[in-house]
Amino acid sequence: MLDIMLYSYLFIVGLIFGSFYNVVGIRTAEKQSIVTPRSHCPNCQQQLAAMELIPVVSYVLQKGRCKNCQKSFSPKYLLFELLTACLFTISPIVVGWSKELLIALLLISLVIIVSISDLHKMLIPNKVLLLFGMTTFIVRLFIPTIPWWDAYVGALLGFGLLYLIAVVSKGGIGGGDIKLFAVLGLFVGVKGVLLTLFLAAFLGMLFSLVLIIMRKLKHKQPMPFAPFIGLASLISYTYGAQLWDLYFRLFA
Ligand SMILES: [Zn+2]
Repeated sequence: MLDIMLYSYLFIVGLIFGSFYNVVGIRTAEKQSIVTPRSHCPNCQQQLAAMELIPVVSYVLQKGRCKNCQKSFSPKYLLFELLTACLFTISPIVVGWSKELLIALLLISLVIIVSISDLHKMLIPNKVLLLFGMTTFIVRLFIPTIPWWDAYVGALLGFGLLYLIAVVSKGGIGGGDIKLFAVLGLFVGVKGVLLTLFLAAFLGMLFSLVLIIMRKLKHKQPMPFAPFIGLASLISYTYGAQLWDLYFRLFA
């Protein structure tokens, strides 16, 4: 019974944070303040009343439309709210009700925000990276589920590898992706960074191949990469040990 209450609580907290991350992701990408002005309709600029700001509930009640101009809101907002809530809720199942839960929630938050920014404006805001990077840099010293040096070397390796790829591919990878990998290294460590890179490349290629086949994407057209990096880092964070195990059993 207590468990159900705790999980429901995490789900609701996830919805509220997810709704806030929509604002953070979009406004930092637009280089606007996240505090002012109050949330408004992206179409008619009408300020949203308190009743229109309740995650999911408002969206459903208003059938996904602005009360003032009737224009539909993008379902992306709703999806990211629900995704944050779901990921928050399953994280104690993955890491337990332990100190590591803080790391897991930080990682989920980072992944959600940079994905929103990248989808919105094709960029990963420095402010977000700096905030999460500094926080995790310090927190890792106190929550050593991976040794602190593993986290720090992972960050250096993430930065170095992506920098190298950017040089070799002559700008095929953005500066934001390079810095994002450095921050992710703090979460997943050395092995995790390698796995994240491999999975992100694999998922990104698979997805763009599907889009090219469906003729939704032109060859060489840039595509936001952060959602793939984010998804890859979450898989690597959750299943890293098992995937490495599988790799060694197959190839070593
Ligand atoms: Zn409107």
